[in-house]
Order: sequence, then C-alpha cells, then structure tokens
Amino acid sequence: MIPVTSFTGKRVALFGLGGSGLATARALVKGGADVLAWDDKPESVARAAKEGIGTADLREIDWSGIAVLILSPGVPLTHPAPHWSADLASAAGVEIIGDIELFVRERRTLAPNAPLICITGTNGKSTTTALIAHILRTSGRDTQLGGNIGTAVLTLDPPAADRFYVVECSSYQIDLAPSLDPTVGILLNLTPDHIDRHGTMENYAAVKARLVAGSQTAVLGDDDPFCRAIAAELEAKGRRVLRISRDHAVHSGLYAAGTVLHHAGGEGETIFADLAGIETLRGSHNAQNAAAAIAACLAVGLSREEIVAGLASFPGLKHRMQPIAQRGAVTFVNDSKATNADAAAPALSSYDRIYWIAGGVAKEGGIEPLRPFFPKIAKAYLIGQAADAFAATLGDAVPVSRSGTLEAAVAEAAADAERAGETAAVMLSPACASFDQYKNFEMRGDAFVGHVAGLPGVAMLI
Ligand code: ADP
Repeated sequence: MIPVTSFTGKRVALFGLGGSGLATARALVKGGADVLAWDDKPESVARAAKEGIGTADLREIDWSGIAVLILSPGVPLTHPAPHWSADLASAAGVEIIGDIELFVRERRTLAPNAPLICITGTNGKSTTTALIAHILRTSGRDTQLGGNIGTAVLTLDPPAADRFYVVECSSYQIDLAPSLDPTVGILLNLTPDHIDRHGTMENYAAVKARLVAGSQTAVLGDDDPFCRAIAAELEAKGRRVLRISRDHAVHSGLYAAGTVLHHAGGEGETIFADLAGIETLRGSHNAQNAAAAIAACLAVGLSREEIVAGLASFPGLKHRMQPIAQRGAVTFVNDSKATNADAAAPALSSYDRIYWIAGGVAKEGGIEPLRPFFPKIAKAYLIGQAADAFAATLGDAVPVSRSGTLEAAVAEAAADAERAGETAAVMLSPACASFDQYKNFEMRGDAFVGHVAGLPGVAMLI
C-alpha cells in the first residue's frame, strides 16, 4: 500500500466505496487523513465503517472544513450530469480528484524519477499495459502494474528510485488527475466511444489528450485523425513526440509493415522486431499495441534485446484473443471478451480459416458489421439467444450449426476442424453478451477453456 501523505491531518471527503474507492480510503487513513466516506450502497458504507474508516452522508456534512473530494472513477464528474457530491464540492470551492492524482502527488514527493508509464486510448489499453509490464519484468526491473486494469494504484508498493510503474488510465481517471505527469504517456487510438460521459468527441479527445500533454515523452497513435491532431499540436509546442502506426511509415517512432516493426529515429530507420510467430500478438491491432510498448520501453532505457525477449514471451491477456490450446494445426482461441460485433472484428481479421463459436445476447445491429469476414469462416457454431438472428444474417454465406450450448459447439467445431486437417482456429468470439448462459464473459471464457481441455489429444498453452 502507498500511504497518502498529501492530506495528513486534513479532512477528506470520499464518494464511491467500490474496490478502488475502498483501497483509496485505506491509503488516506494510513497516511493520517481524517476521512469521511460515503456510497449509495449502504452495504459498502457498512463494510468501510467496520474496518474503522470514517463514514458520513456527504449531503449532511459541513463542507467548509473539507480539503478535497476524492471521487471513484466510475462516478460522473461532468457528463451526463455531475454527481451530487461533485456539485456540493464545487459549490464549496473544494477540489475534486481521484486516486491516480493522489498517486502522482506521492510519487513527486517520494521518488520523482521513478519511471511512470501511463496508457490510455479507446482500445488496446489493457493489452499494451500488460505487455509493457511483462517486458519490464522479464528484463529484471522492479515493476508495478495497476490502474484501470484492475489493481488500484494505491495498493501498489510505494514509489522508489528504481521502481517502474505501468498504469492504465481510463478517460474517467484522467479527468480526475489534473497534475498527471508520467515519464511516458501513451495515447493509442481514439474512436467515438464513451461519449455519454464526456459529452462530445471533442471533449472526450481533450480529456485523453491531457495524459500525453503532461508527459515527458508522448507516444501517439498515428492511425486516426484525432490522435494525429493531438500529436501535431504537441510537436508545434516543441514537445517530444513518438508516433506509432499499425500500417504506415512514421518519421520518429515505431511502425508496422505486416508483422515487422520498424524503428524510425535520429539515426535513420532500422528493423526492430518481427511479431510473426508470436501468437499472443497476432493482428494489426496488436502491432499497434506492440509498437507503443516498444516506444515506451525504449524511452525508459531498455535495450532492444531486452524488449525483443519480452515480446516473444508475452503470455497475452485472458479472454482477449488468447491462444489457449493446440491440436495438430488447429489453435483454440478464447476471445470471450468480444461482447459485440466491433469487439469480435479484430479476432476474426487475425486468422485466415476460422471455426467460429458465436452467440449469446446480441447487441443492436447483430453481426452485420462482420460480413467482410464471412469468407474466412469455415463454419459457425451458434449458441444462446442470438442463434436465429445470427443464422439469418449468415444466410447462405457460411455453413451454420445451431449448437445451442458452448459444450456442444466446442465438440462440433473441434471435430470439424480435425476432419478438415487444415491450419485453422477454433475460436470463441461471441459478438454477444453472455448473461443468457453465463454470469459474465470471464465465466464464459473459463467454460470454453474447460471444454477444450477435455478434448482428447489437445496440448494446453495456458
Ligand atoms: P481495453 O483495455 O482498451 O478495453 P484490451 O487490451 O482489453 O482493450 O482489448 C480488448 C479488445 O479490443 C481486444 O480483444 C481486441 O479485440 C481489441 N483491441 C485490442 N487492441 C486494439 C487496438 N490497438 N485497436 C483496436 N482494437 C484493439
């Protein structure tokens, strides 16, 4: 845990006692702050009170004595409307921040040179964050991994000179971190998303831009107009910018041509690494993630050899296009996190011959956006509620089996792929939510892994 010392002896209001909120409250108490915490859920308040954290309904306190309001990142600061606690704080002139801000203040006090790499973007944040942490760890660096990826930053080990921090930041967290000043800030890509929270695309882009604006080295995706505009703005201000691209050359940074990553910099251009054969980094979207990871690792002083070794041994993230098993030429891939068509697209685009398990509770639009990939699909195995609708969309373009359950789908797809004797993927990339058959996508992915592990003759990769 990192005890928060910036509010020692001061009275702090905190709203939101979920996982990271509770961890933040503990870190504040440990550092000697007088905490008044609250949540809409009485059971969350009771849990905090039970471990000695001060609680109070923030509608009933005297705000004149409050030094700061700490908001959980899931609580709206501005859009669609400010949370009532944010309104009360603003009316009293009280600053509103989140746990990442507390962390960066602590780092500035304890070890301002501790390398801090922050990652944001619309897609690929977790993969890039995990990849950077993996490369640092395999090179022997003391590495702390946290933020939006699931570990609250204030539960990490305290900042020290040679300790590396890799922190995934959602736009919500950036919004609540006004002095975010990473050694390396990465903005991977920007596509219209989460607009509900930020009002407009311009506002969403402006929030994400703050992460790179405050960084010593800014790493920016060059594959969408929003990121390109932010990069140009930073360069015009004389800032150090590295660009990354999944498909075209850049002057200063890293770019992919197929699976080959090129490094362009002061001394001209060199071939840096080849991702061919690294199953966990398949696809041009992962080339973008890998390019960003390389740029960040170079910026914090790793050698090419260290980075290449880390890329090659990346185990991937669970449920995201994760190769889980092999039988002959057939790879079994768990992409359970793909809960809508757009999320399934990268996986379908990354393999040439696919035995596709899909279905569950469909989102609006179904699998219509996936039509360009239909020619790669050897057969579709449909499960759950969406089976009829998906079968109708697939029509005559793709052979279909209405497997019903995941277990039946795995058995049929594995048998068909084996019979065909070709290099192929048996892939769960459902393009649907899971809750007709599973509590969440993690349980659906775990069930898939279990069924695959039960097949005769498979070699598990995890
Ligand atoms: P995030 O943390 O931003 O949600 P993840 O790394 O968890 O992203 O990846 C989730 C899914 O998003 C992946 O399974 C893949 O389908 C897709 N994805 C990953 N990286 C990228 C990228 N760079 N560009 C577009 N889509 C991506």
